[in-house]
Amino acid sequence: MPTTIIHASRILTPDEEISDGIIVVEGSRIAGLGHRDTMRLPTGAADYVAAGMTVVPGFIDLHIHGAGGHDVMEGNARALDRITSVVARHGTTSIVATTVTAPVEETCHSLAGIARYIRSHENLEEVRAESKPQAEILGIHLEGPFLSKSQRGVHPLEAIARPSVETLEKFLQAADGLVRILTIAPELPGALEMIAHAVAAKIVVALGHTDADYDQARRAIEAGARHSVHFYNAMRPFTHRDPGVVGAILTDPDVTAEVIADLVHVAGPAIQVLLGSKGFDTVLLASDGIAATGMADGNYRLGNFEVAVRNGVARNSEGKLAGSTLTLDRALRNLVAVGVSLKEAVRMATILPARRIGLAGRKGVLAEGADADLVMLTPDLRVAGVMTRGAGLSSTGSILPV
Ligand SMILES: [Zn+2]
Repeated sequence: MPTTIIHASRILTPDEEISDGIIVVEGSRIAGLGHRDTMRLPTGAADYVAAGMTVVPGFIDLHIHGAGGHDVMEGNARALDRITSVVARHGTTSIVATTVTAPVEETCHSLAGIARYIRSHENLEEVRAESKPQAEILGIHLEGPFLSKSQRGVHPLEAIARPSVETLEKFLQAADGLVRILTIAPELPGALEMIAHAVAAKIVVALGHTDADYDQARRAIEAGARHSVHFYNAMRPFTHRDPGVVGAILTDPDVTAEVIADLVHVAGPAIQVLLGSKGFDTVLLASDGIAATGMADGNYRLGNFEVAVRNGVARNSEGKLAGSTLTLDRALRNLVAVGVSLKEAVRMATILPARRIGLAGRKGVLAEGADADLVMLTPDLRVAGVMTRGAGLSSTGSILPV
């Protein structure tokens, strides 16, 4: 098995900080890590020196529609290869491929394609350190069609549907059991029954694109909803007499909130309000990235409609925000710029999303036995190198084979 030894000035596991650390990678897993004086090193390994760098776990994006000119709804290997390669360059080593509202049959077709791709990448035979880094697709996030018409954002009105367990079952079957997250507006008729059904199928239910008032949101949480997507966006706004779904999420420590920290979807002080009331253990970074991510301004598809990207901001023909071109490395820098510590910001992009989807221990953490997903950050928090399940350590910047 190929073995790599990474020498780093600092490691954030992320709960622990190790200076002058060493990480030993064997095949696709981390075989050990610690301060260099405490480590017994294998012989015959390739050495990488990440001098001056901080090594952190690879980022996990629970809400991403596309990148590199492609959308996950295309569902074919070419599109998914491109998306997973582009985000990996920005430190994202795992994603949950997120659909956008579309007709049922079309969605099923996309789900089947994504599921086939995931299944064909489950078993890594020979991981070679020099092969290209590529994010792992951990599952599928269904964003729609069970959304509020009044808070639909850019989801196409004609494909928005009422909750139906029967339709959900069609999706789950097409996705070969790989749906991990379901975003739903809980005020819709039939939503509570659907939430219970999804929770029983071990799916994380997220509140989103919703006009729910406080009581409706509470009932959804009691039925098992535990997450919320692009907090503040496409939600009934908070007021002090009508706290709504925003108030219900802010006051429940069991419910996580995903934030698009591009400083366009949410202003910096609003992120501070969110963190101030929920604390640092329940707010996750997600990109809501679309095909235009990693590309120049221009016109792109999101699902089956067109969006225009100007100055990196994506809008539909009515001028509504249509996802983002954010990458999680930029989200991390933005959070640090609004005053969040690097450690907390890293946790929000790594261990917290891993926990939310039940993958703590394998993903989002640097620990013995965990997948070798890691990112080398320069002092100004640029990505200098990325490893995805043992593959692809780039030798750019000052990370050099010795
Ligand atoms: Zn959305």
